[in-house]
Amino acid sequence: MELAGEAEFKSRAYGRAARTVEAFPGSLAELATQAEAGAVQGIGEALAQKIAALAHTGSLPFLTELEQSFPAGMTNLLDVSGLGPKTIRKLNKELGVQNLEDLERACVDDRVSPLPGLGKKVSRRFSTGPASQSYAGRFHLHKALAQAEGHRGVLRKIAKRVAIAGSVRRRMETIDRIDLVAEATDPKALLEAFAALPDVSTVSEKLDDRCVAVFQNGMTAALHVSAPGGFGLAFVQATGSADHYAALEERARERSVAIDAMEGDEEAAIYSALGLADIPAELREGLGEIEAAASGALPRLIGPGDLIGVVHAHTQYSDGTASVAGMAAAARALGYRYLALSDHSKSSTVAGGLKEDAVKRQHDEIDALNAKEKDFRILKGIESDILKDGSLDYDDDVLKASILLSRAFIRISAFRAMP
Ligand SMILES: [Zn+2]
Repeated sequence: MELAGEAEFKSRAYGRAARTVEAFPGSLAELATQAEAGAVQGIGEALAQKIAALAHTGSLPFLTELEQSFPAGMTNLLDVSGLGPKTIRKLNKELGVQNLEDLERACVDDRVSPLPGLGKKVSRRFSTGPASQSYAGRFHLHKALAQAEGHRGVLRKIAKRVAIAGSVRRRMETIDRIDLVAEATDPKALLEAFAALPDVSTVSEKLDDRCVAVFQNGMTAALHVSAPGGFGLAFVQATGSADHYAALEERARERSVAIDAMEGDEEAAIYSALGLADIPAELREGLGEIEAAASGALPRLIGPGDLIGVVHAHTQYSDGTASVAGMAAAARALGYRYLALSDHSKSSTVAGGLKEDAVKRQHDEIDALNAKEKDFRILKGIESDILKDGSLDYDDDVLKASILLSRAFIRISAFRAMP
């Protein structure tokens, strides 16, 4: 919808409604009935009608029309890291960019950089080196991970074992290629199944133990099939960066072992044969982790269990979907020790920003809940807009009562970044 130039508040309302649909425990038809009766918060009449159409016919003309209003390939641009709907709209309007190829051409012809506002940023990002390599199929981790898991789900039915490797497993911020490692009794059939995955656009490489395919969204994915008893080594090879693997080879040479001949079903067998502790995938970048593993100095990675609280969350007081008590219960269930609430301030009318009396009510509710808690705190915050004259959205009394000012900092940095 943002790509179509719809008002931001409208697409936000759809986003919120989508989350409500996802979280609804009953069927879509039940939700539609309740929503049409006006009994579902955040879903008004227009949205209720669309949900009902979807529930009863299985399709939504509104969505079909929206999708058909873009040239094929334009929505793929949304998957490219660094491009948002606004930028894509601008590129389309000013330069007629409809897909990745158009963007590449526009960068090569230097038509992007003169565009005010975004030109330099976009062209710098997408025109270093051969254009096709510099941007094509660079995806945010969460998208690449979802796609990799989809591939793995299909291949798992045929393979003995399939694992996600490469930069996805190393949890890089952006991903230019999905790597999968598999073990199969019939490698040929597995490679063929991979090449025949839905959405494969071209198969760029097909060997006895490897297949590389480019998907319709521009993502490249490679499947490596290990030799019998060689999963450990294949997994190591397909996971680490080139520098990491080069350092392993160097270490193997020093110890006169042939790394290519190493056997084992698990990676730990390979690392331990080289006198190394098992190195977490996230560290395998060739940045000194081999030395650290050799001397027992590998750092401990921060994991989900290390998170002790959340510092920015909304509730039903503004545009959230849960109550204060509901949010607190969810945070406690995750093992957190605190939750800082920071609903929108009053100038954010589209997001249901809080007037002074609502802030007061929320604070009273928080105080009452905190009084009952021993090991958990709800902290009072506000996502305050900064007004045109530089002042904040409330007078000092309200602000003093809130210990956290979230958006204030974001807005300030945004101002500073502007020329
Ligand atoms: Zn927020």
